[in-house]
Amino acid sequence: MEKRELVILGAGPAGLTAAIYGRRAGLDVLILERGMPGGQITITDEIENWPGVQHASGQELADSFRRHAEKFSPEFRDATVTSLEVRDGRKVVVTDKGEIEAEAVIIATGANFKRLGCPGEAEYTGRGVSYCAVCDGAFFEGEEVAVIGGGNTAVEEACYLTQFASKVYIVHRRDSFRADKVPVERAMSNPKIVPVFNSVVEAIEGGEMVERLVLKNVKTQEISHLPVAGVFIFVGTAPNSGFASSLVETAPGGWIKTSPKMETSVEGIFAAGDVRDTFLRQVVTAAGDGAVAAMAAYSYITEQLHLQKVLFEPKRVNALFYSSIDEAQVALVARAEEWAESKGISLTVVDGYRSLRMMEKLGVKELPTAMVLHEGKEISRARVSSVEDLEIFCR
Ligand SMILES: Cc1cc2nc3c(=O)[nH]c(=O)nc-3n(C[C@H](O)[C@H](O)[C@H](O)COP(=O)(O)OP(=O)(O)OC[C@H]3O[C@@H](n4cnc5c(N)ncnc54)[C@H](O)[C@@H]3O)c2cc1C
Repeated sequence: MEKRELVILGAGPAGLTAAIYGRRAGLDVLILERGMPGGQITITDEIENWPGVQHASGQELADSFRRHAEKFSPEFRDATVTSLEVRDGRKVVVTDKGEIEAEAVIIATGANFKRLGCPGEAEYTGRGVSYCAVCDGAFFEGEEVAVIGGGNTAVEEACYLTQFASKVYIVHRRDSFRADKVPVERAMSNPKIVPVFNSVVEAIEGGEMVERLVLKNVKTQEISHLPVAGVFIFVGTAPNSGFASSLVETAPGGWIKTSPKMETSVEGIFAAGDVRDTFLRQVVTAAGDGAVAAMAAYSYITEQLHLQKVLFEPKRVNALFYSSIDEAQVALVARAEEWAESKGISLTVVDGYRSLRMMEKLGVKELPTAMVLHEGKEISRARVSSVEDLEIFCR
């Protein structure tokens, strides 16, 4: 099986930033991407909150991220990740193009649009129903369209659509938008934008193409029809984490839980960007996460290297492998270290639970195990359960 140091899943802002940091730290980096590098921003026309760039289209910013990452020569591969597994302590990324074993993995697969789930939505997708204003807005020149949603994306994309449409309704279930103040003010001062508050879409109807929305007023329960030629749905996002959801711990909705170092519940697997259970999902936060994840992955990988150094380089090593999740073994290690110090014996303690790769390399199957190595070669080994056992072994 192909073996790599750091495999990054997804080439959006988080994955591309992780690739820059990973390569600059000297790691071998492979990025797997199922589409075009760049991620979600490629479908937005306007980004004006990436520091240092006052205005750029999403595609421009995505292109500059990709070019920047390419400068450090990570390997880009066009592949869809179908599952992430741990087999005998090894992290295996399964893709439609084969399997890859990785020392460390960063999940940076971002998020995707949520569907409304109403009748007509699936039927009319591509025939008037869209999730991308930049991709499809120009098809609605001079027509009336509706945007569904009330967050930043809905309000900003509604403004973008006024370049083409004669009128843009923003249908929102609440009585005010939850988007930030600046985009809301911009939208409300645009004469082509008409908010339709307290309303939900019951159905999308038409003939060959979309012709109308069936709306329900959530306060009065009144049903009405809104004639539109296009419906742009921006009602939130869901994480692209299904391939790993049975492996790593997730929050409700499938968002991956991480530590501040972007560590998931599985050692050596990190997550960054929109796929994470986090407060803010933006380009700037995704990029920040990517940087942290790459540096945490670097420490993790080099820790493995450190173990190799302390175990294989010295002339003689007395090693004690134990499990840090077993209280009795933790106590034994404390006593063993005390004993070794009192006797002036050098003892290298290795947490086998966290260093499965090293255990495997040395063929250690049970814990605690003591081992004597001479310049990396095994001289002897024994199962130990007390300091007395260790004392006899080290004689
Ligand atoms: C319409 C719109 C407008 C936006 N406007 C702004 C804005 O103005 N400012 C701002 O800061 N943010 C904006 N955002 C949010 C911003 O785009 C995201 O926060 C950011 O892209 C997250 O980056 P990411 O790398 O975590 O994930 P993504 O950008 O989602 O990238 C994930 C990548 O992983 C790939 N992938 C997913 N699953 C797999 C798989 N199984 N195998 C292989 N590859 C996979 C995807 O193809 C994608 O390229 C906007 C988003 C949208 C949709």
